[in-house]
Amino acid sequence: MKIVSTIINPIPDEEGYHIFECDKCQELFSIKPQDIEKQENLYCPYCGHQGSFITFTNNIRKKVYKDHPIISDKESNENQEIDLEHIKEMLKDLKKDDMDIELLEYSVEEIIHQEELIKYEFICCDKMIKVPMEIFKHVKYCTFCKGEILFNMTE
Ligand SMILES: [Zn+2]
Ligand SMILES: [Zn+2]
Repeated sequence: MKIVSTIINPIPDEEGYHIFECDKCQELFSIKPQDIEKQENLYCPYCGHQGSFITFTNNIRKKVYKDHPIISDKESNENQEIDLEHIKEMLKDLKKDDMDIELLEYSVEEIIHQEELIKYEFICCDKMIKVPMEIFKHVKYCTFCKGEILFNMTE
């Protein structure tokens, strides 16, 4: 048996922000992973949908996977939920030769141009995210505590 697994890894921008997409309203936002380390739940800043690092990157990883010319015609495990624990589990039962892990990386720039993003500060949690300029007015909830935002202002 041969297993081919693809791990899709995000590369943050130069300030360390990772791009996320809400799986409900499909809008983009970016967060620094160190801001969500102790955070079990995250919330979409636009629709308040609850998610996590995994659920908020699922759509992006699927797109990256589909668009990637090198692997698009290869047969492989399409399970995008794969994480290190799963891999360790699988490795226990398999010899090294039976398993192929492909690493596919994507940068923020591949998803959205940096110039289109602006910083948005949540005063309640003293944390910043980045949102596309054209929809910053649609920010309704704090990503970290789901606190409701009443007014959106730019500096
Ligand atoms: Zn949403
Ligand atoms: Zn907050």
